Amino acid sequence: MLSFSDARQLVVTQSKSNAGARSTITLATADALGHILAEEIRSDREYPPFHRSTRDGYAVAAAEATAHASLRCVGEIKAGDTVTQPLNPGTCIQIMTGGAVPSGADAVVMIEFTHRDSDVVTFDRTTQRGQNVVPRGSEAHTSDLALSPGLRLGFAELAVAAQVGATKLRCFKKPRVAILSTGDEVVPIAEIPGPFHIRNSNTVSLAAQVRLAGGEPVPLINALDRVDDLSAKIEQGLCEDILVLSGGVSMGKYDLVESVLKGLGAEFFFDAVAIRPGKPTVFGRCRNTFVFGLPGNPVSTMVTFQLFVIPALDILSGAEARPLPLLEATLAEPLQENPSLTHFLPGHIEWPNSIATVRPLRWQGSGDIVALTRANCFLVVPANCPLIPASDKVSVLPRFDVL
Ligand code: AMP
Ligand code: MG
Repeated sequence: MLSFSDARQLVVTQSKSNAGARSTITLATADALGHILAEEIRSDREYPPFHRSTRDGYAVAAAEATAHASLRCVGEIKAGDTVTQPLNPGTCIQIMTGGAVPSGADAVVMIEFTHRDSDVVTFDRTTQRGQNVVPRGSEAHTSDLALSPGLRLGFAELAVAAQVGATKLRCFKKPRVAILSTGDEVVPIAEIPGPFHIRNSNTVSLAAQVRLAGGEPVPLINALDRVDDLSAKIEQGLCEDILVLSGGVSMGKYDLVESVLKGLGAEFFFDAVAIRPGKPTVFGRCRNTFVFGLPGNPVSTMVTFQLFVIPALDILSGAEARPLPLLEATLAEPLQENPSLTHFLPGHIEWPNSIATVRPLRWQGSGDIVALTRANCFLVVPANCPLIPASDKVSVLPRFDVL
């Protein structure tokens, strides 16, 4: 059986080799958060466009502003002021953060290191050339590449786009992800469930995970555990870039997802992974759609989504697959599990004194979503590891929506 890292690698390779051409959409820069950039954005001018002061202080010629020397202050420069006059020898000019350093000046002395008596400014210490001045063009030259295609647009990337005057950005369309829960017992959340029914929490949580991971969720109506109904609903899902199913992939008599997919012509890249929860996870391709069959237990769908669906979503979004952010943490209390497969257990990680420390949480197994609301991570417990003593190092996977 595949390890979770090998299974994940298979998702990456298959998604890369079959991703196909992605269409693009032009968005207002302020609306492009979370999209993947599809074009180059270049600097429209020099950055900074003038020698910029990074401090409130005095613009000086460094050679003149030596320790205990005095210079006459002849004026002031605020941010935004047009600066055309050079600084004359023997003088300094008061300058504010963001102001343009005049020619003739090659440093700014912080106001904290000066004394002023009327218009005479005395300096406490020697001044280095270039101090507190960002030279014109030192961050970027005109036409330099500011943002590359494939970049995920977060707040810093949007700030760069705004800085260079890119009011619109051509981005890749977000992949559309059909979400199909299965099960005769599953009812819509707005309905009163019968005594043996359960509400469909998976469609809600999967849609939320898709959205957070950068996809466009397309929730479908739950499919019954019947070949005809399941085929018809899977057909709907095959219109999208990715189809994520929940439930119906285990060994039960009514777990029909794999056989129905096979009947529709799917090829499978794996149909089991050596993890718990999540062992029966299925990954394949049917027509032009990547298909994930995730186990129906709510926590299983969450773990397997993070491990396997996110890398496919990243690649189909036009980005590289983000790495799995596994951390090392100190175990706060002993852990007795001895799993035959790698276990993902809900945990809570904290950083007291800057040292990552993780505590396993009590839970009732992979149906226990309430336990997961108290968790901010999963402990990754390797197979055949009977007892992990407190203070040992363990591997931790942060919940991607919390940390
Ligand atoms: P399955 O993988 O179909 O065997 O389902 C495993 C468990 O997950 C069962 O107890 C199901 O009732 C539960 N389950 C399946 N689908 C959902 C869903 N959409 N929402 C909440 N729980 C579900
Ligand atoms: Mg089921």
